[in-house]
Amino acid sequence: MAQQEDVFKKIVSHCKEYGFVFPSSDIYDGLGAVYDYGQNGVELKNNIKQYWWQSMVLLHENIVGIDAAIFMHPTTWKASGHVDAFNDPLIDNRDSKKRYRADVLIEEQMAKYEDKIQKEIEKAKKKFGDSFDEAQFRATNARVLENQEKYDNLHHRFQTVMNAEGGIDLDGMKQIILDEEIVCPISGTRNWTDVRQFNLMFSTEMGAAAEGASKIYLRPETAQGIFVNYLNVQKTGRMKLPFGIAQIGKAFRNEIVARQFIFRMREFEQMEMQFFIQPGTELDWFAKWKETRMKWHQNLGFGAENYRFHDHDKLAHYANAATDIEFHMPFGFKEVEGIHSRTNFDLSQHAKYSGKKIEYFDPERNESYTPYVIETSIGVDRMFLSIMCHSYEEQKLADGQTRTVLHLPAALAPVKLAVFPLTKKDGMPEKAQEIINDLRFHFNCKYEEKDQIGKRYRRMDAIGCPFCVTVDQQTLEDNTVTLRDRDTMEQRRVAIADLRGIIEDKVSITSLLKNLL
Ligand code: ATP
Repeated sequence: MAQQEDVFKKIVSHCKEYGFVFPSSDIYDGLGAVYDYGQNGVELKNNIKQYWWQSMVLLHENIVGIDAAIFMHPTTWKASGHVDAFNDPLIDNRDSKKRYRADVLIEEQMAKYEDKIQKEIEKAKKKFGDSFDEAQFRATNARVLENQEKYDNLHHRFQTVMNAEGGIDLDGMKQIILDEEIVCPISGTRNWTDVRQFNLMFSTEMGAAAEGASKIYLRPETAQGIFVNYLNVQKTGRMKLPFGIAQIGKAFRNEIVARQFIFRMREFEQMEMQFFIQPGTELDWFAKWKETRMKWHQNLGFGAENYRFHDHDKLAHYANAATDIEFHMPFGFKEVEGIHSRTNFDLSQHAKYSGKKIEYFDPERNESYTPYVIETSIGVDRMFLSIMCHSYEEQKLADGQTRTVLHLPAALAPVKLAVFPLTKKDGMPEKAQEIINDLRFHFNCKYEEKDQIGKRYRRMDAIGCPFCVTVDQQTLEDNTVTLRDRDTMEQRRVAIADLRGIIEDKVSITSLLKNLL
Protein backbone atom coordinates (compact mmCIF):
# COMPACT_ATOMS: atom_id res chain seq x y z
CA MET A 1 0.00 0.00 0.00
CA ALA A 2 2.76 2.40 0.99
CA GLN A 3 4.41 1.60 -2.30
CA GLN A 4 1.20 2.38 -4.17
CA GLU A 5 0.90 5.72 -2.38
CA ASP A 6 4.44 6.43 -3.43
CA VAL A 7 3.57 5.74 -7.05
CA PHE A 8 0.58 8.03 -6.76
CA LYS A 9 2.75 10.87 -5.44
CA LYS A 10 5.08 10.38 -8.37
CA ILE A 11 2.18 10.55 -10.81
CA VAL A 12 1.02 13.82 -9.25
CA SER A 13 4.45 15.39 -9.60
CA HIS A 14 4.86 13.99 -13.10
CA CYS A 15 1.58 15.68 -14.05
CA LYS A 16 3.00 19.00 -12.92
CA GLU A 17 6.51 18.58 -14.29
CA TYR A 18 5.32 17.68 -17.78
CA GLY A 19 2.53 20.23 -18.20
CA PHE A 20 -0.48 17.99 -17.60
CA VAL A 21 -2.02 19.34 -14.38
CA PHE A 22 -1.07 22.35 -12.23
CA PRO A 23 -2.59 23.50 -8.95
CA SER A 24 -4.99 26.36 -9.65
CA SER A 25 -3.46 29.83 -9.23
CA ASP A 26 -0.16 28.15 -8.47
CA ILE A 27 1.78 31.37 -7.86
CA TYR A 28 -0.55 32.03 -4.92
CA ASP A 29 0.11 28.50 -3.60
CA GLY A 30 -2.98 26.96 -5.13
CA LEU A 31 -6.65 26.75 -4.23
CA GLY A 32 -8.06 23.70 -2.43
CA ALA A 33 -9.15 20.95 -4.80
CA VAL A 34 -9.09 23.19 -7.88
CA TYR A 35 -6.69 22.41 -10.72
CA ASP A 36 -5.63 23.76 -14.10
CA TYR A 37 -4.76 21.62 -17.09
CA GLY A 38 -1.51 22.49 -18.84
CA GLN A 39 -0.35 22.28 -22.42
CA ASN A 40 -0.31 18.47 -22.52
CA GLY A 41 -3.17 17.96 -20.08
CA VAL A 42 -5.62 19.95 -22.17
CA GLU A 43 -4.83 17.84 -25.25
CA LEU A 44 -5.33 14.57 -23.36
CA LYS A 45 -8.51 15.90 -21.79
CA ASN A 46 -9.87 17.03 -25.15
CA ASN A 47 -9.12 13.63 -26.62
CA ILE A 48 -10.98 11.88 -23.79
CA LYS A 49 -13.94 14.16 -24.37
CA GLN A 50 -13.84 13.52 -28.09
CA TYR A 51 -13.70 9.76 -27.57
CA TRP A 52 -16.77 9.96 -25.33
CA TRP A 53 -18.69 12.46 -27.45
CA GLN A 54 -18.15 10.60 -30.68
CA SER A 55 -19.01 7.24 -29.09
CA MET A 56 -22.33 8.77 -28.05
CA VAL A 57 -23.32 11.22 -30.77
CA LEU A 58 -21.52 9.83 -33.81
CA LEU A 59 -22.17 6.14 -33.20
CA HIS A 60 -25.82 6.50 -32.14
CA GLU A 61 -28.30 7.96 -34.56
CA ASN A 62 -30.72 8.53 -31.71
CA ILE A 63 -28.35 10.49 -29.45
CA VAL A 64 -27.85 14.23 -29.91
CA GLY A 65 -25.81 16.72 -27.92
CA ILE A 66 -26.48 20.04 -26.21
CA ASP A 67 -24.45 22.63 -24.34
CA ALA A 68 -26.53 24.18 -21.55
CA ALA A 69 -25.47 27.13 -19.39
CA ILE A 70 -23.88 26.61 -15.98
CA PHE A 71 -26.31 29.06 -14.38
CA MET A 72 -29.87 27.81 -14.29
CA HIS A 73 -33.15 29.10 -12.92
CA PRO A 74 -32.98 28.56 -9.15
CA THR A 75 -36.22 26.58 -9.15
CA THR A 76 -34.38 23.89 -11.14
CA TRP A 77 -32.51 22.91 -8.00
CA LYS A 78 -35.58 22.99 -5.83
CA ALA A 79 -37.33 20.66 -8.27
CA SER A 80 -34.36 18.32 -8.59
CA GLY A 81 -34.09 17.98 -4.83
CA HIS A 82 -30.60 19.48 -4.62
CA VAL A 83 -31.59 22.44 -2.41
CA ASP A 84 -33.09 20.17 0.22
CA ALA A 85 -31.09 17.01 -0.09
CA PHE A 86 -27.74 17.44 -1.85
CA ASN A 87 -25.94 17.08 1.44
CA ASP A 88 -23.03 15.15 2.82
CA PRO A 89 -22.86 14.21 6.50
CA LEU A 90 -19.72 15.75 7.98
CA ILE A 91 -17.88 15.24 11.25
CA ASP A 92 -14.88 17.04 12.76
CA ASN A 93 -12.12 15.73 14.94
CA ARG A 94 -11.65 18.26 17.75
CA ASP A 95 -7.96 17.53 18.20
CA SER A 96 -6.70 17.61 14.62
CA LYS A 97 -9.43 20.10 13.54
CA LYS A 98 -9.78 17.94 10.42
CA ARG A 99 -13.12 17.45 8.75
CA TYR A 100 -14.35 14.15 7.36
CA ARG A 101 -17.36 12.70 5.61
CA ALA A 102 -18.96 10.50 8.24
CA ASP A 103 -20.26 8.02 5.63
CA VAL A 104 -16.77 7.69 4.15
CA LEU A 105 -15.22 6.97 7.56
CA ILE A 106 -17.70 4.10 7.97
CA GLU A 107 -17.16 2.83 4.44
CA GLU A 108 -13.42 2.80 5.05
CA GLN A 109 -13.98 0.76 8.19
CA MET A 110 -15.98 -1.77 6.16
CA ALA A 111 -13.18 -1.87 3.60
CA LYS A 112 -10.75 -2.70 6.43
CA TYR A 113 -12.75 -5.82 7.33
CA GLU A 114 -12.88 -6.79 3.65
CA ASP A 115 -9.11 -6.32 3.41
CA LYS A 116 -8.52 -8.55 6.40
CA ILE A 117 -10.63 -11.29 4.83
CA GLN A 118 -8.81 -10.91 1.53
CA LYS A 119 -5.43 -11.18 3.26
CA GLU A 120 -6.42 -14.45 4.94
CA ILE A 121 -7.55 -15.80 1.58
CA GLU A 122 -4.31 -14.77 -0.16
CA LYS A 123 -2.28 -16.40 2.62
CA ALA A 124 -4.25 -19.64 2.38
CA LYS A 125 -4.04 -19.63 -1.41
CA LYS A 126 -0.26 -19.54 -1.18
CA LYS A 127 -0.23 -22.29 1.40
CA PHE A 128 -2.60 -24.73 -0.24
CA GLY A 129 -1.83 -24.00 -3.90
CA ASP A 130 -4.05 -25.72 -6.48
CA SER A 131 -6.08 -27.62 -3.93
CA PHE A 132 -7.38 -24.38 -2.35
CA ASP A 133 -11.16 -24.15 -2.19
CA GLU A 134 -12.07 -20.50 -1.53
CA ALA A 135 -15.77 -21.09 -0.86
CA GLN A 136 -15.02 -23.71 1.75
CA PHE A 137 -12.31 -21.58 3.32
CA ARG A 138 -14.69 -18.62 3.61
CA ALA A 139 -17.30 -20.85 5.22
CA THR A 140 -15.01 -22.40 7.81
CA ASN A 141 -11.96 -20.26 8.67
CA ALA A 142 -12.44 -18.69 12.11
CA ARG A 143 -10.70 -15.38 11.34
CA VAL A 144 -12.59 -14.95 8.07
CA LEU A 145 -15.89 -15.72 9.78
CA GLU A 146 -15.16 -13.28 12.57
CA ASN A 147 -14.36 -10.44 10.15
CA GLN A 148 -17.28 -11.32 7.92
CA GLU A 149 -19.61 -11.06 10.89
CA LYS A 150 -18.16 -7.67 11.83
CA TYR A 151 -18.55 -6.54 8.23
CA ASP A 152 -22.13 -7.77 7.97
CA ASN A 153 -23.17 -6.14 11.24
CA LEU A 154 -21.61 -2.84 10.26
CA HIS A 155 -23.08 -3.01 6.78
CA HIS A 156 -26.51 -3.62 8.22
CA ARG A 157 -26.23 -0.73 10.71
CA PHE A 158 -24.93 1.57 7.99
CA GLN A 159 -27.84 0.71 5.71
CA THR A 160 -30.27 1.39 8.54
CA VAL A 161 -28.92 4.87 9.35
CA MET A 162 -28.58 5.84 5.68
CA ASN A 163 -32.16 4.82 4.89
CA ALA A 164 -33.83 6.10 8.05
CA GLU A 165 -37.31 7.65 7.86
CA GLY A 166 -36.97 11.34 7.07
CA GLY A 167 -33.35 11.18 5.87
CA ILE A 168 -30.02 10.03 7.23
CA ASP A 169 -29.96 9.29 10.98
CA LEU A 170 -27.08 11.56 11.98
CA ASP A 171 -26.95 10.50 15.64
CA GLY A 172 -26.97 6.87 14.58
CA MET A 173 -24.07 7.59 12.31
CA LYS A 174 -22.03 9.11 15.09
CA GLN A 175 -22.83 6.15 17.32
CA ILE A 176 -21.44 3.78 14.70
CA ILE A 177 -18.21 5.80 14.54
CA LEU A 178 -17.91 5.62 18.34
CA ASP A 179 -18.83 1.94 18.59
CA GLU A 180 -16.39 0.97 15.86
CA GLU A 181 -13.72 3.00 17.66
CA ILE A 182 -12.82 4.80 14.45
CA VAL A 183 -9.93 7.22 15.07
CA CYS A 184 -8.86 10.33 13.18
CA PRO A 185 -5.90 9.33 10.99
CA ILE A 186 -4.13 12.60 11.85
CA SER A 187 -4.59 12.93 15.63
CA GLY A 188 -5.27 9.27 16.34
CA THR A 189 -8.07 10.28 18.75
CA ARG A 190 -11.79 9.60 18.98
CA ASN A 191 -12.67 13.15 20.01
CA TRP A 192 -15.46 13.63 17.44
CA THR A 193 -18.08 16.35 17.08
CA ASP A 194 -21.68 15.50 16.20
CA VAL A 195 -22.48 14.64 12.59
CA ARG A 196 -24.02 17.54 10.63
CA GLN A 197 -25.47 17.88 7.15
CA PHE A 198 -23.65 20.14 4.71
CA ASN A 199 -25.07 21.28 1.35
CA LEU A 200 -22.57 20.86 -1.46
CA MET A 201 -23.89 23.51 -3.84
CA PHE A 202 -21.98 26.76 -4.41
CA SER A 203 -24.20 29.79 -4.65
CA THR A 204 -23.80 33.33 -5.90
CA GLU A 205 -26.02 36.28 -6.67
CA MET A 206 -27.39 37.36 -9.99
CA GLY A 207 -28.45 40.97 -10.57
CA ALA A 208 -26.93 44.31 -9.58
CA ALA A 209 -29.04 45.72 -6.77
CA ALA A 210 -28.74 43.83 -3.54
CA GLU A 211 -32.52 43.85 -2.97
CA GLY A 212 -33.30 42.70 -6.49
CA ALA A 213 -30.58 40.09 -6.67
CA SER A 214 -31.56 36.48 -6.60
CA LYS A 215 -29.58 33.62 -5.25
CA ILE A 216 -28.46 31.24 -7.94
CA TYR A 217 -26.33 28.11 -7.89
CA LEU A 218 -23.40 26.86 -9.86
CA ARG A 219 -24.73 23.59 -11.22
CA PRO A 220 -23.59 20.56 -9.21
CA GLU A 221 -24.30 18.25 -12.17
CA THR A 222 -24.88 18.79 -15.87
CA ALA A 223 -27.88 16.44 -16.00
CA GLN A 224 -30.48 19.06 -15.05
CA GLY A 225 -29.51 21.13 -18.11
CA ILE A 226 -30.60 18.14 -20.15
CA PHE A 227 -33.88 17.57 -18.32
CA VAL A 228 -35.02 21.18 -18.64
CA ASN A 229 -34.25 21.00 -22.37
CA TYR A 230 -36.02 17.69 -22.94
CA LEU A 231 -39.05 19.30 -24.60
CA ASN A 232 -36.97 21.71 -26.70
CA VAL A 233 -34.82 18.94 -28.12
CA GLN A 234 -37.59 16.39 -28.54
CA LYS A 235 -39.78 18.86 -30.42
CA THR A 236 -37.19 20.65 -32.56
CA GLY A 237 -35.28 17.46 -33.33
CA ARG A 238 -38.52 15.50 -33.79
CA MET A 239 -36.95 12.81 -31.66
CA LYS A 240 -38.70 9.49 -31.16
CA LEU A 241 -38.30 7.38 -28.06
CA PRO A 242 -35.90 5.85 -27.23
CA PHE A 243 -33.46 8.74 -27.67
CA GLY A 244 -30.62 10.31 -25.75
CA ILE A 245 -29.20 13.76 -25.04
CA ALA A 246 -25.49 14.05 -24.31
CA GLN A 247 -23.63 16.91 -22.71
CA ILE A 248 -20.11 17.72 -21.54
CA GLY A 249 -19.58 20.55 -19.10
CA LYS A 250 -18.35 21.91 -15.82
CA ALA A 251 -19.97 21.06 -12.51
CA PHE A 252 -19.23 22.46 -9.04
CA ARG A 253 -19.44 20.84 -5.62
CA ASN A 254 -18.19 22.24 -2.35
CA GLU A 255 -16.68 18.88 -1.38
CA ILE A 256 -15.95 18.54 2.33
CA VAL A 257 -12.94 16.33 1.94
CA ALA A 258 -11.10 17.18 -1.18
CA ARG A 259 -8.04 14.99 -1.38
CA GLN A 260 -6.52 12.64 -3.88
CA PHE A 261 -5.60 15.21 -6.48
CA ILE A 262 -8.09 15.42 -9.37
CA PHE A 263 -10.17 12.51 -8.06
CA ARG A 264 -12.32 14.81 -5.94
CA MET A 265 -12.38 18.42 -7.07
CA ARG A 266 -14.56 21.39 -6.29
CA GLU A 267 -14.73 22.39 -9.97
CA PHE A 268 -14.77 19.45 -12.36
CA GLU A 269 -16.16 18.33 -15.66
CA GLN A 270 -18.80 15.74 -16.40
CA MET A 271 -19.87 13.86 -19.50
CA GLU A 272 -23.48 12.87 -19.07
CA MET A 273 -26.05 11.23 -21.27
CA GLN A 274 -29.71 10.92 -20.42
CA PHE A 275 -31.50 8.23 -22.39
CA PHE A 276 -35.28 8.67 -22.56
CA ILE A 277 -37.31 5.47 -22.80
CA GLN A 278 -40.73 3.91 -22.44
CA PRO A 279 -41.68 3.14 -18.84
CA GLY A 280 -41.32 -0.57 -18.19
CA THR A 281 -38.28 -0.98 -20.45
CA GLU A 282 -35.83 0.58 -18.01
CA LEU A 283 -34.20 -2.53 -16.62
CA ASP A 284 -33.41 -3.80 -20.13
CA TRP A 285 -31.94 -0.45 -21.10
CA PHE A 286 -30.05 -0.26 -17.84
CA ALA A 287 -28.39 -3.61 -18.61
CA LYS A 288 -27.62 -2.48 -22.17
CA TRP A 289 -26.01 0.77 -21.07
CA LYS A 290 -23.97 -1.02 -18.42
CA GLU A 291 -22.55 -3.24 -21.12
CA THR A 292 -22.00 -0.41 -23.62
CA ARG A 293 -20.22 1.77 -21.12
CA MET A 294 -18.02 -1.03 -19.78
CA LYS A 295 -16.99 -1.82 -23.37
CA TRP A 296 -16.06 1.84 -23.90
CA HIS A 297 -13.74 1.71 -20.89
CA GLN A 298 -12.20 -1.67 -21.65
CA ASN A 299 -11.59 -0.64 -25.24
CA LEU A 300 -8.65 1.44 -23.99
CA GLY A 301 -6.76 -1.80 -23.40
CA PHE A 302 -6.01 -1.41 -19.69
CA GLY A 303 -7.15 -4.97 -18.87
CA ALA A 304 -10.62 -6.14 -17.84
CA GLU A 305 -9.32 -7.02 -14.36
CA ASN A 306 -8.92 -3.31 -13.59
CA TYR A 307 -12.65 -2.59 -13.83
CA ARG A 308 -15.62 -3.75 -11.83
CA PHE A 309 -19.25 -2.85 -11.33
CA HIS A 310 -20.31 -1.80 -7.89
CA ASP A 311 -24.07 -2.08 -7.63
CA HIS A 312 -25.62 0.33 -5.15
CA ASP A 313 -27.25 -1.07 -2.05
CA LYS A 314 -28.62 2.31 -1.23
CA LEU A 315 -30.80 3.65 -3.99
CA ALA A 316 -32.03 7.22 -4.14
CA HIS A 317 -35.77 7.11 -3.54
CA TYR A 318 -36.53 7.76 -7.23
CA ALA A 319 -34.01 5.29 -8.68
CA ASN A 320 -34.78 1.65 -9.32
CA ALA A 321 -31.28 0.51 -10.26
CA ALA A 322 -27.82 2.06 -9.99
CA THR A 323 -24.26 0.92 -10.45
CA ASP A 324 -20.79 2.43 -10.57
CA ILE A 325 -18.01 1.48 -12.90
CA GLU A 326 -14.93 1.37 -10.71
CA PHE A 327 -11.33 1.48 -11.86
CA HIS A 328 -8.32 0.12 -10.05
CA MET A 329 -6.48 3.29 -9.00
CA PRO A 330 -3.28 3.17 -6.91
CA PHE A 331 -5.53 3.90 -3.90
CA GLY A 332 -7.98 1.07 -4.58
CA PHE A 333 -11.02 0.46 -6.79
CA LYS A 334 -12.76 3.83 -7.18
CA GLU A 335 -15.84 5.13 -8.97
CA VAL A 336 -15.21 6.68 -12.36
CA GLU A 337 -18.72 6.50 -13.78
CA GLY A 338 -22.25 6.09 -12.49
CA ILE A 339 -25.12 4.47 -14.39
CA HIS A 340 -28.54 5.15 -12.94
CA SER A 341 -32.09 4.20 -13.74
CA ARG A 342 -33.86 7.40 -12.60
CA THR A 343 -37.47 6.52 -13.48
CA ASN A 344 -39.48 9.62 -14.47
CA PHE A 345 -38.51 11.47 -11.31
CA ASP A 346 -36.68 14.46 -12.82
CA LEU A 347 -39.09 15.16 -15.67
CA SER A 348 -42.09 14.82 -13.36
CA GLN A 349 -40.53 17.17 -10.82
CA HIS A 350 -39.81 19.79 -13.49
CA ALA A 351 -43.37 19.40 -14.80
CA LYS A 352 -44.68 19.98 -11.28
CA TYR A 353 -42.50 23.02 -10.53
CA SER A 354 -42.74 24.67 -13.96
CA GLY A 355 -46.41 23.94 -14.56
CA LYS A 356 -45.52 22.71 -18.07
CA LYS A 357 -46.67 19.41 -19.45
CA ILE A 358 -43.51 17.40 -20.02
CA GLU A 359 -44.63 14.28 -21.81
CA TYR A 360 -44.10 12.23 -24.91
CA PHE A 361 -46.85 11.25 -27.28
CA ASP A 362 -46.17 7.68 -28.33
CA PRO A 363 -47.73 7.14 -31.76
CA GLU A 364 -47.43 3.37 -31.47
CA ARG A 365 -49.23 3.17 -28.15
CA ASN A 366 -51.41 6.15 -29.01
CA GLU A 367 -50.92 7.65 -25.56
CA SER A 368 -48.88 10.26 -23.75
CA TYR A 369 -46.62 9.55 -20.83
CA THR A 370 -43.59 10.90 -18.98
CA PRO A 371 -40.53 9.05 -20.28
CA TYR A 372 -38.25 7.10 -17.98
CA VAL A 373 -34.55 7.83 -17.99
CA ILE A 374 -31.30 5.87 -17.90
CA GLU A 375 -28.36 8.12 -17.10
CA THR A 376 -24.69 7.50 -17.75
CA SER A 377 -22.50 9.98 -15.90
CA ILE A 378 -18.73 10.04 -16.01
CA GLY A 379 -16.19 12.55 -14.68
CA VAL A 380 -13.65 13.72 -17.26
CA ASP A 381 -11.07 14.38 -14.55
CA ARG A 382 -11.46 10.97 -12.93
CA MET A 383 -11.16 9.38 -16.35
CA PHE A 384 -8.01 11.46 -16.92
CA LEU A 385 -6.61 10.29 -13.58
CA SER A 386 -7.34 6.63 -14.28
CA ILE A 387 -5.59 6.89 -17.65
CA MET A 388 -2.57 8.59 -16.08
CA CYS A 389 -2.35 6.02 -13.29
CA HIS A 390 -2.50 3.11 -15.64
CA SER A 391 -0.11 4.56 -18.21
CA TYR A 392 2.67 5.69 -15.89
CA GLU A 393 5.66 3.37 -15.70
CA GLU A 394 9.20 3.64 -14.42
CA GLN A 395 10.76 1.07 -16.65
CA LYS A 396 14.07 -0.65 -16.00
CA LEU A 397 15.96 -0.94 -19.26
CA ALA A 398 18.39 -3.66 -20.35
CA ASP A 399 21.34 -1.28 -19.96
CA GLY A 400 20.49 -0.73 -16.28
CA GLN A 401 18.99 2.72 -16.83
CA THR A 402 15.42 3.68 -16.01
CA ARG A 403 13.01 5.60 -18.18
CA THR A 404 9.69 7.15 -17.20
CA VAL A 405 7.15 6.43 -19.86
CA LEU A 406 3.45 7.10 -20.24
CA HIS A 407 1.89 4.23 -22.18
CA LEU A 408 -1.09 6.37 -23.17
CA PRO A 409 -3.47 4.87 -25.72
CA ALA A 410 -2.08 6.43 -28.92
CA ALA A 411 -5.44 7.93 -29.85
CA LEU A 412 -5.53 9.88 -26.58
CA ALA A 413 -1.88 11.00 -26.48
CA PRO A 414 -1.41 14.80 -26.50
CA VAL A 415 1.32 14.65 -29.15
CA LYS A 416 1.23 11.89 -31.74
CA LEU A 417 4.51 12.44 -33.54
CA ALA A 418 7.74 14.20 -32.59
CA VAL A 419 10.18 15.08 -35.36
CA PHE A 420 13.87 15.60 -34.58
CA PRO A 421 16.70 16.76 -36.79
CA LEU A 422 19.77 14.75 -35.75
CA THR A 423 21.83 17.95 -35.81
CA LYS A 424 20.99 21.59 -36.28
CA LYS A 425 22.83 21.84 -39.59
CA ASP A 426 23.01 20.57 -43.19
CA GLY A 427 19.35 21.38 -43.82
CA MET A 428 18.10 18.78 -41.34
CA PRO A 429 15.94 21.25 -39.34
CA GLU A 430 14.34 22.43 -42.58
CA LYS A 431 13.63 18.85 -43.64
CA ALA A 432 12.10 18.09 -40.24
CA GLN A 433 9.89 21.18 -40.51
CA GLU A 434 8.83 20.09 -43.96
CA ILE A 435 7.64 16.75 -42.56
CA ILE A 436 5.70 18.52 -39.83
CA ASN A 437 4.15 20.99 -42.24
CA ASP A 438 2.87 18.06 -44.22
CA LEU A 439 1.51 16.02 -41.33
CA ARG A 440 0.19 18.70 -38.92
CA PHE A 441 -3.19 18.75 -40.64
CA HIS A 442 -3.70 15.09 -39.78
CA PHE A 443 -2.46 14.80 -36.21
CA ASN A 444 -0.63 16.71 -33.51
CA CYS A 445 3.13 17.00 -34.26
CA LYS A 446 5.98 18.51 -32.30
CA TYR A 447 9.40 19.71 -33.40
CA GLU A 448 12.39 19.24 -31.06
CA GLU A 449 16.01 20.05 -31.77
CA LYS A 450 17.46 20.63 -28.30
CA ASP A 451 19.77 18.09 -26.57
CA GLN A 452 20.95 14.69 -27.73
CA ILE A 453 18.50 12.36 -29.43
CA GLY A 454 18.41 10.07 -26.37
CA LYS A 455 17.25 12.91 -24.14
CA ARG A 456 14.66 13.98 -26.67
CA TYR A 457 13.28 10.42 -26.73
CA ARG A 458 13.01 10.45 -22.94
CA ARG A 459 11.10 13.74 -22.97
CA MET A 460 8.66 12.33 -25.51
CA ASP A 461 8.27 9.09 -23.52
CA ALA A 462 7.40 11.17 -20.48
CA ILE A 463 4.48 12.83 -22.27
CA GLY A 464 3.37 9.59 -23.89
CA CYS A 465 4.17 10.52 -27.51
CA PRO A 466 3.73 7.22 -29.41
CA PHE A 467 6.05 7.97 -32.35
CA CYS A 468 9.32 9.82 -32.91
CA VAL A 469 11.02 10.43 -36.22
CA THR A 470 14.65 11.40 -36.71
CA VAL A 471 15.94 13.19 -39.76
CA ASP A 472 19.61 12.37 -40.46
CA GLN A 473 22.17 12.54 -43.24
CA GLN A 474 20.57 9.63 -45.06
CA THR A 475 17.21 11.41 -45.07
CA LEU A 476 18.69 14.15 -47.20
CA GLU A 477 19.83 11.55 -49.70
CA ASP A 478 16.89 9.12 -49.91
CA ASN A 479 13.92 10.69 -48.07
CA THR A 480 13.77 8.02 -45.40
CA VAL A 481 13.75 8.57 -41.62
CA THR A 482 14.03 6.41 -38.51
CA LEU A 483 10.68 5.85 -36.87
CA ARG A 484 10.86 4.96 -33.18
CA ASP A 485 8.05 3.28 -31.25
CA ARG A 486 7.45 4.53 -27.67
CA ASP A 487 6.54 1.20 -26.11
CA THR A 488 8.98 -1.20 -27.79
CA MET A 489 11.65 1.48 -28.42
CA GLU A 490 12.27 -0.25 -31.74
CA GLN A 491 13.53 1.85 -34.61
CA ARG A 492 13.02 1.19 -38.27
CA ARG A 493 13.77 2.98 -41.48
CA VAL A 494 10.69 4.19 -43.35
CA ALA A 495 10.02 6.46 -46.31
CA ILE A 496 8.74 9.93 -45.41
CA ALA A 497 5.95 9.34 -47.90
CA ASP A 498 4.73 6.37 -45.84
CA LEU A 499 4.65 8.15 -42.46
CA ARG A 500 1.08 9.34 -42.64
CA GLY A 501 -0.20 5.90 -43.65
CA ILE A 502 1.67 4.19 -40.82
CA ILE A 503 0.73 6.64 -38.07
CA GLU A 504 -2.65 8.17 -38.84
CA ASP A 505 -4.84 5.16 -38.33
CA LYS A 506 -3.15 4.21 -35.05
CA VAL A 507 -3.50 7.65 -33.48
CA SER A 508 -7.02 8.56 -34.58
CA ILE A 509 -10.07 8.46 -32.32
CA THR A 510 -11.74 6.59 -35.19
CA SER A 511 -9.42 3.65 -34.55
CA LEU A 512 -10.89 3.40 -31.03
CA LEU A 513 -14.46 3.94 -32.17
CA LYS A 514 -14.31 1.18 -34.76
CA ASN A 515 -13.91 -1.44 -32.02
CA LEU A 516 -17.09 -0.28 -30.34
CA LEU A 517 -19.43 -1.23 -33.15
P1 ATP B 1 -18.67 10.29 -5.11
O1 ATP B 1 -19.52 9.23 -4.44
O2 ATP B 1 -17.28 9.84 -5.41
O3 ATP B 1 -18.75 11.63 -4.45
P2 ATP B 1 -20.90 10.67 -6.79
O4 ATP B 1 -21.55 9.33 -6.72
O5 ATP B 1 -21.43 11.79 -5.98
O6 ATP B 1 -19.33 10.50 -6.54
P3 ATP B 1 -22.12 11.37 -9.24
O7 ATP B 1 -22.97 12.41 -8.65
O8 ATP B 1 -22.73 10.07 -9.65
O9 ATP B 1 -20.85 11.10 -8.29
O10 ATP B 1 -21.32 12.02 -10.46
C1 ATP B 1 -20.99 11.30 -11.63
C2 ATP B 1 -19.51 11.31 -11.89
O11 ATP B 1 -18.96 12.62 -11.77
C3 ATP B 1 -18.70 10.47 -10.92
O12 ATP B 1 -18.69 9.12 -11.30
C4 ATP B 1 -17.33 11.10 -11.01
O13 ATP B 1 -16.60 10.56 -12.10
C5 ATP B 1 -17.63 12.55 -11.29
N1 ATP B 1 -17.49 13.34 -10.05
C6 ATP B 1 -18.40 13.52 -9.08
N2 ATP B 1 -17.93 14.33 -8.12
C7 ATP B 1 -16.67 14.67 -8.50
C8 ATP B 1 -15.66 15.50 -7.93
N3 ATP B 1 -15.84 16.15 -6.79
N4 ATP B 1 -14.48 15.64 -8.59
C9 ATP B 1 -14.28 15.00 -9.76
N5 ATP B 1 -15.19 14.21 -10.34
C10 ATP B 1 -16.39 14.04 -9.74
